[in-house]
This record gives sequence, C-alpha cells and structure tokens, in this order.
Amino acid sequence: MQRLCWTVFLQMCIIGMLAAQPAIDKSRLFILLVVPEADTVTTTTATYRLSASTNPGNAVTVNGKQYNVYPSGAFCGKLDVAVGENVFTITASTAAGTSMSKTFVILRPKPMETTRRDTLMLEDALMMPTHDLWLAEGDILQVQVKGTPGGKATFLNGIPMRERPVSQTRGIAGIYRGTYKVKASDTLVSQRITFQLEDSVGNSVSRSTYARVSFKSNTLPVVGVTKGERPYLNAGLGDGRLGAYKFSIINPDIRLRITGKVGNMFRVGLTENQEAWIEDTYVDLQPAGTFFPSSLTGNITVGAEGNQDVVSMFLSDRLPYSTSQLSNPNRIVVNVYGAATNTNAITHQLTAKEITNVYVNQAEKSVSRITIELKSKQMWGYEIGYEGTSLKIKVRRQPESLKLKSLSFAIDAGHGGDNKGALGSTGALEKDVTLAIASHVRRILEDEGATVIFTRSDDTNPGMTERFLKAYRGGADLLVSIHANSIGLTGNPADTKGAGAFYKHTSHRFLSEFILKEMLRTGLDTIGNVGNFNFALLGPTELPSTLVETAFISNPEDEMKLLDDDFRKELAKRIVDGISQFLEYCDE
Ligand SMILES: [Zn+2]
Repeated sequence: MQRLCWTVFLQMCIIGMLAAQPAIDKSRLFILLVVPEADTVTTTTATYRLSASTNPGNAVTVNGKQYNVYPSGAFCGKLDVAVGENVFTITASTAAGTSMSKTFVILRPKPMETTRRDTLMLEDALMMPTHDLWLAEGDILQVQVKGTPGGKATFLNGIPMRERPVSQTRGIAGIYRGTYKVKASDTLVSQRITFQLEDSVGNSVSRSTYARVSFKSNTLPVVGVTKGERPYLNAGLGDGRLGAYKFSIINPDIRLRITGKVGNMFRVGLTENQEAWIEDTYVDLQPAGTFFPSSLTGNITVGAEGNQDVVSMFLSDRLPYSTSQLSNPNRIVVNVYGAATNTNAITHQLTAKEITNVYVNQAEKSVSRITIELKSKQMWGYEIGYEGTSLKIKVRRQPESLKLKSLSFAIDAGHGGDNKGALGSTGALEKDVTLAIASHVRRILEDEGATVIFTRSDDTNPGMTERFLKAYRGGADLLVSIHANSIGLTGNPADTKGAGAFYKHTSHRFLSEFILKEMLRTGLDTIGNVGNFNFALLGPTELPSTLVETAFISNPEDEMKLLDDDFRKELAKRIVDGISQFLEYCDE
C-alpha cells in the first residue's frame, strides 16, 4: 500500500503547490487547518487526509472522536467521506477547559449514473476523443459517447457503435464505443465528431465532441525541426504530475518524422516500429516535399577535446537519438534513428583516457547503435549533441582528485517562491525546509573547501531547465536535489514516514544509495532507493544526480525533526558523508 502511494505523494511533493495559509496568532488558542486546504473542498475519493495543528498540550476531537496531539501540536488522520456533504468539526480544548471549534466541509459528488431511460439523450461525460487529433492512413480513431441505453448509436455519418456490457462499465449502461481505421483517401479538416443516437421508434438525437479531428493521410508524415532550450522526446502520452516519461533529451535543429498529433503533442516516427512524442512548441513543421531525415553513418573518431573524451560520428543529417547505460563494464549506448550503418573505420586516436572501446552496429532497421565502453566504475556524465551534422558524444572523465575540496557540487533546494512544495501539519512548508537543509549542506561542503553551486539561495522558484543549466554550466561534478516528502490527499499522514533517495539513470544509483544509507543513521525510517524516477533534474546524463526526500513533512513525527535545526544540521552532515563515501567508492 505504501508502494502504491509513492508516485502520488512524491509527485505532490515535487510539483506541489497548495493554497496559502492565513497567518495565525499562535500565542492564543488556535486551530490551524492545513489539509483540507480550504473550508470547503470537493473530492471523488472515499477518504481525505486531515493535517492540522493546535497549541501543544491541547486535546482535540473531530466530530467527537479523540485525536492524538503530537508535542508540536500537530494532529492528523484519514477522514471517511460519504457521497454528499460531509461536515467535520474540530474541537480543541486547553487543560484549563477553554475550547474552540472549527468546521469544514468535504463534498463528494454522486458517482456517475446511467443516463435516464425515459428521455433520448447524449451527454458530454466520457466523450472521446478528448483531444484534437491528426490521424494518418492506418491510424485507428477510437470514439465513445454516453447516452440513453438500448439505442442505436453511430458516428461519422453512420458508422455503427456498440454499447458496452455493464460488466465492463461498473454497472453504467449506455456507453457506446466505435472505431474507424483511417484510409489513404480520407480527408477531414479539423472536424468535431458527431454522434447520433436513435431509439426503437426512429427518434434521434445528436451531439458532437469538443475535440476536433483531422484525417491527414495526404499530408502525413511531415518533417519537423526541433527548436528551443533542451527539447525532449517522451516515450508515451502519460499525464502524471511529473509528466510523461522522458525518452530522450535532444537538441535544437534535429529533424524528425512527424506522423500524427494528439492535443499539443506531435507523434514522432523514429522507426517503423518505434514512436515518441514531443510538444508542438519544440517543433517547426517543414513544407511538403522536404526530404525525411535519414543518413548513412560515416567514420568514427575516438579522441580527446580538452579534458573530455569525445566520440564523433559523421552523418549527413541531424537525426534524433536516445541513450541508455549498461554496467559491468560501464557502457554508454546511443541509438541513432533513421541511420543505416556504413561506418568503415573507427579511429582510436590514443588520446582518450576514459573510453576503452567503441563499436557500432545496426541494431534494427534504421537504427544505428554506438556502444562506448568506459574504464572507471562510475560514469561522470556525458553530453550528446551535434557539430554541423556530426554526432558528438562528449564523455567526462573521472576527476583526477576525488577529494571534496577538489570538486564542485550543485546543491538544489526544492521548490521556492509560489511553489511551496509539500505541507506539514503545523504549517511548515517544504520550500523552507529544503532551503534550510541545503544551506547546511552548502556550509559543510564549503568548510571542507569544496565549491558549491546553489541553484537557489532565496525564496524564488527557478525553472527546472534553469536549475540544471546553472549546475552544469557552472561546472558541477554532481548534483543533489533536496526535498521533503508528502503523502497524498487520501492517506493518513501518520502512516508513512522516512527518508528516500531517487535516481533515474542506472549509473547514478550508487550516489543515491550512499547518501540514503548515511541519512538513515539519523534514525529516520526509509522508503528505499528508487530508480527510473522521472524527475526533471534527474533526466540529464551530463552529470551524476540524485533527489533526496529527506523525510515526510506530512508526517507529524518527521515534521518535528525537519523543523529542528540541529536535526537539519545532522541530516546535512549525513548527506555530505554520503557524498564522501560515494567518492571513496569511486576511488577504490
Ligand atoms: Zn519536493
């Protein structure tokens, strides 16, 4: 159950922007309601988190039920929410017998029901498609509409739909679905899909989608060229709070084969069998007749530029790519899409220090794969880009000295400014706690003679790309992003606490693990070391990175620790110890 919740609350913590709290005079008897975030909230869930506080030592009931009040004055729980209006009254009483109350309301609308059977109608609920679509030959248009059960539903001027069995719809009758495979000759220009529902005596009613659909068999695929700062390809259309899973961070001026569109996301055909998605703001479409991206791979040179090892591969076109990593030995794998391998020479110039071997093969049709073997047991990062149309993979060497004083560390305090992050029961804000811990980490590192790049030093919220570029362009050797965790809106804050660490790329796992192990020496519980984590600062391959969720600010026990500056100092010390142990491991 804990595992199930993680993604929800982590995402809350990372994106979290909850409503501002009014100032409260804590010298008087008070009740501070933190979650729910307003005196009236609406939910579709059967439970709701309660996080609140009062003067320490008070007794608290909610609708007559006694709650545990922590030494900080925090109290919390999981409220049962029935369909309809749920009124909750918190009463806080002092030892002297004075008391006050605060009332709040949680509304839970009725769940969806079958459309009335006595009137022929179609509804907006459950209507699909929900986003504008560009479809090409062979694509399947999938549509859905909800209306009076037992009718005859059609779309696109007469294509029949089927009513779904109630066994598949949680008992709701009258949900109709249909599909249509787009033909080469089909054209449809930004049209709403109109549904028609007819009853047994020939009455009919119609309704149209808000989404507009285009059949573009005659104009798709089309060439698109990337633009903007660090455009990226997503693997799919996931829409969690962290966004879709990032498949590859690419560069401007890369040519893509655009094969369709859903909402604001272009579909990219990387190969016949593989696709990715990119936001339309990152793409300029090219005129019809523009040649599609493709290239033979040319010769490869392995050498050095400055203090980096560099692999250069000649191509005639700037093709999209993706990268992954393998260990034992450490290898960087780069797939180049639209490429046919034609490399007749891989010249090792004998100047490379980190790269031990490079080879290239045709991984599948139109995918040329470069594999780079490395010497060190830790990867220190690599950057993939183009010079002209030559693909360059710049590999960072292990720093010559792995002493703290010889290195540069990017320390990122999560959230800031309007982005408060997660909330504690006493009104503690994640953005303040992260900055306090990060500032201790900074001082400890600087006392050791290390260089620290702070992504924010005040109450502001730089964007993720801005934070990353500040770290990377500032010459950071590694990056640690500091956060505090939170349970989601349906759980009991008392149930989940402890530290966690997160990484995305497999080569960053040990940095994460060493820091987590050290943090646990403070006595914190743990939720573990979590890989493949789709947090924006962990996506870049340019330097090792980790996200540490120090403790659960939503948990009253953890919150008390996070508000204790001595504990924060100890935690900061442990984070630096973890970094030191990671460096020793690299040096062995
Ligand atoms: Zn956070």
